[in-house]
Amino acid sequence: SCSDENDYDHLFKMVLIGDSGVGKSSILSQFDRNVFSLDFKSTFGVEFISKIVKIEGKNIKAQLWDTAGKERSKSDGPYVRYTVCSATQDLIPRGALGAVLVYDVTRRNTFENVKMWLKELRDHVDSSHVVLVGNKTDLKNLREVTTEDGAALAESEGWSFVETSALDSTNVDKAFQILLTEIYRAFI
Ligand code: GDP
Ligand code: MG
Repeated sequence: SCSDENDYDHLFKMVLIGDSGVGKSSILSQFDRNVFSLDFKSTFGVEFISKIVKIEGKNIKAQLWDTAGKERSKSDGPYVRYTVCSATQDLIPRGALGAVLVYDVTRRNTFENVKMWLKELRDHVDSSHVVLVGNKTDLKNLREVTTEDGAALAESEGWSFVETSALDSTNVDKAFQILLTEIYRAFI
């Protein structure tokens, strides 16, 4: 994924952000290969993937950065650095135009932490395009965050909202389509 395909009209960097365990790497994996692996771990060796996506007739090179298991936690301080393609980068890459902000619909605290991630984003992302993603909708009996709660938060922040399952791939492509379309429309 450090290789460069050159046949595209625009390159948009996006970041996946949210608490540990919400499914960011699984969503990245679905976006990349349309494969869900139950033992997909943060040891996954790639911290971003690129994929050409058609948006309104244009080839958009979507570069999606994962935070790769280096999410901040209460104990390890406010900031984290990690290595990507041999270069040390900030947790949120420079030039990111949008974010996929993920919480886990089966863990209420991951939803409550969305506001904290928002602050991180405001400090580091060049534009405010956000799609709020409630992941793990396949775990119907374990749900702690309703669709209405997610939609209301997104609406109050002016974000798009979608619920996904990285397990059965529901809405994963849709989340990226929404975000890339938003970025593209603001860009042209
Ligand atoms: P990350 O820490 O945010 O990158 O989360 P991971 O992608 O590593 O996922 C954490 C755990 O949740 C793993 O055991 C995944 O298999 C599981 N997981 C991720 N997405 C889903 C989902 O949509 N449904 C279910 N049932 N499990 C998921
Ligand atoms: Mg991960």
